[in-house]
Amino acid sequence: MLLTLLTAGLVGALAISLVKRYTDQQEIDYLTSNANAAARQALPLMIPNANPYELQQLAQTAAFLGNVRVRIRDAASGVIADSGAQSGPDTFVMILPPDIGNTPDNSPSMMSILLGRRHAARGQDSSLDRMPPGTRYMLVEREDGPWGRRFVFQAVSNTPPTESAAATTASDPTGRSNRTVSVPIGDAAHTVGYVELSGAPDFGAATISATASAILVAALAASLVAGIVALFVGRGLTAPLNKLALAANRMSSGDLTTRAQVTGNDETGQLAQQFNQMAERLQSSFAEIEAERDTLRRFIADASHELRTPITALKTFNELLRNGAADDMDVRSEFLTESQSQIERLGWITRNLLDLSRLDSGFVNLDVAAHDAGEMLQAAAGAFKQAALDRDITFNVIQPEPPLAVNCDRARMEIALSNLIDNAIKYTPSGGRVTVGADAAGSIRLWVENSGAGIDPVDLPHIFERFYRGKGSNARGSGLGLALVKSVVQAHGGHVAVQNDPGQGCRFMIELPESGATAAG
Ligand code: ADP
Repeated sequence: MLLTLLTAGLVGALAISLVKRYTDQQEIDYLTSNANAAARQALPLMIPNANPYELQQLAQTAAFLGNVRVRIRDAASGVIADSGAQSGPDTFVMILPPDIGNTPDNSPSMMSILLGRRHAARGQDSSLDRMPPGTRYMLVEREDGPWGRRFVFQAVSNTPPTESAAATTASDPTGRSNRTVSVPIGDAAHTVGYVELSGAPDFGAATISATASAILVAALAASLVAGIVALFVGRGLTAPLNKLALAANRMSSGDLTTRAQVTGNDETGQLAQQFNQMAERLQSSFAEIEAERDTLRRFIADASHELRTPITALKTFNELLRNGAADDMDVRSEFLTESQSQIERLGWITRNLLDLSRLDSGFVNLDVAAHDAGEMLQAAAGAFKQAALDRDITFNVIQPEPPLAVNCDRARMEIALSNLIDNAIKYTPSGGRVTVGADAAGSIRLWVENSGAGIDPVDLPHIFERFYRGKGSNARGSGLGLALVKSVVQAHGGHVAVQNDPGQGCRFMIELPESGATAAG
């Protein structure tokens, strides 16, 4: 709106200055041409001696016709005739000669009437009142308008109009200009006097004020329209931004489900889409963090529980031994043996937990080298041969043909294999069968299979979770074995798969990427 007003103001100022220059020039031209005409007619009335009466009539006639003030001065600038200030519209009364109207040409030139006869501005010449009744006179009315002037002639043979009747039409639509133009009478060498014109109707000022009001109205209308348009356009622009700000506010106060309800493909629409995508990612990241936090909580609770069990057992043995149980050698030996196994269990759990957290954090440096797969299987299986024998389980290690080399951290890979073999022996009923082997078909596989009930399908999705133990699992354990296997294998870039055949048994496979396996020399 301000811009529109400013523009209108500048254009208006320019237009007004142009109009002023034009009207000023028009006024000067008008005064000069009227003055020149009067000067030409004044010249014979100044020679040889000035005729003040005729000059006064000339001044008044010229003043009436031009609606200006006319002064005629002598060569020494003394005033000879002065029409006085004009105020229009005006009415002139001219007494007509008796022959007018009877002659064939009863429409004499206006100048001859004005110059040759008595005339008077009504109300200024009381001689009209002294005229005999029935005197014919000419009523000349001058009407000045901003765009021109017209004279209305009316021959009347009755009494002249009264002052009050004329007064109803006497109103000057304009002010008077204070510009004065003076032209010499006679040529430059013989100047006998001057005609001076002033007090012309100030049509310039009227035109300028009309132009200014028109520009002002136009500027106000334009700025009003600009304001209304700006309001609508502004609303259209700010509404989507407000929605976006609202959504951002809600999100900053914790509501991650909030989305910006902005449509469209313009910049704001694209911004809203990106905002919504960001909100989507933020929400899923938070969900992941929360899930991880829950897992961590569960892990800590499970770990404390697992650690508490052997500690409680040790505490109980210790108290019983101190309270006299130590006197009985058999009981004492049994408690000490059981304590030893609980201490080993504690050691095993803490070692595994430590290993797990190291592997998960990625801070562990694997000591990777090429190792013979058969040797590794034999080494891992060695510790369980006696246990298998004790439980009447057929335990076989199938050596890969040709021999296979695996690039891995041998100590850690053997722990993973041990955990799998340990489970296989644990969950195989007496008289069953456990087999371990390795092969290379695309990727290298180290596998452990056992006969038996296999894994309960309910447990299957959870067996690699920390501290998860099968619902019907009565065997000793902590639920960390398979979790550790998974972490070790993943640290090597591989993964653990399981083939489950309920009622028949299952097979666990450590699959390592091909780059991790080479043929052993
Ligand atoms: P743990 O053996 O200490 O219970 P694991 O993490 O080693 O813990 O195993 C998790 C669960 O997976 C076991 O409780 C058991 O239910 C199931 N499981 C693992 N290995 C076998 C297997 N060879 N046969 C049947 N079930 C198994």
